Amino acid sequence: MRSIAKPAPRPVLPAREKGARRHSAKAERLANERLERDIHAFAYSIAHDLRAPLRHIHGYSEFLLSGSDAASKPYARRIMAATRRMDALISDLLVYSRLTLDEMGLRRVEPSVVLERVLAGLEKDLEARGTVLDVEVPLPAVLAQPDALAQILENLLSNALKFTPLCLYPRIRVRGETRGDTVRLWVEDNGIGIRPAYREKIFDVFQRLHRSDEVPGTGIGLAIVRRAAERMGGAAGVEAAPERGSRFWVDLQSGETHRQGRRL
Ligand code: ADP
Repeated sequence: MRSIAKPAPRPVLPAREKGARRHSAKAERLANERLERDIHAFAYSIAHDLRAPLRHIHGYSEFLLSGSDAASKPYARRIMAATRRMDALISDLLVYSRLTLDEMGLRRVEPSVVLERVLAGLEKDLEARGTVLDVEVPLPAVLAQPDALAQILENLLSNALKFTPLCLYPRIRVRGETRGDTVRLWVEDNGIGIRPAYREKIFDVFQRLHRSDEVPGTGIGLAIVRRAAERMGGAAGVEAAPERGSRFWVDLQSGETHRQGRRL
């Protein structure tokens, strides 16, 4: 004979305890909403309030540069360079915070189409360095937000250029492979490579292995890559290339097998 186990009776909470639990859930929801509002206000403030004084400093240092004596000019130039750098930092932080806060509407995207747009923007830099670009087409379709995917590709490609020594012609390869429900996009270069100890760290905000007067940058590019990939339900990482250089990868959900119109 089959015996059917009775489900354990749900504990009966005294009315006062039930009320307390409801109260603390509501308090938590309100605290989360307040936190989200604060973060939005913070991002807005970075975008507008911080930029205004910076523009003033830049404007006045231009004025100083045109009127000052020879001994003062280098200082005015340094002030201008510092304000440009701070402006770049603010822009990148804004992109990063928007990627964190904004809703991601995902749809089926052909990475080759997005890549073409990105390459058009980088054309001058690629040509100036005599870059050999090898794109394996067609790249498999992914589920993505097109602008976020463009941002990922742009950051990886411009890094590939930046971190290939000037004495070499950059060789950049972009390819994709389907791994079940996931598509892995690769951006490979023949640049300076990254030592194993730093391969995770470089994805953190402000982590750079070079001073900004050696190689320009803000240290936020790869944090943006990883955050964008994660917000689209994927991941990002790097491996050493077999001979020299780096092989960055981005995993995204396949555009063939996943439902479209998802929101993350
Ligand atoms: P940035 O390029 O502004 O320095 P990133 O977050 O894009 O910031 O990169 C962080 C660091 O990772 C770089 O400073 C560099 O040391 C290293 N890096 C990134 N891409 C490459 C690459 N393709 N080859 C070698 N090192 C790289």
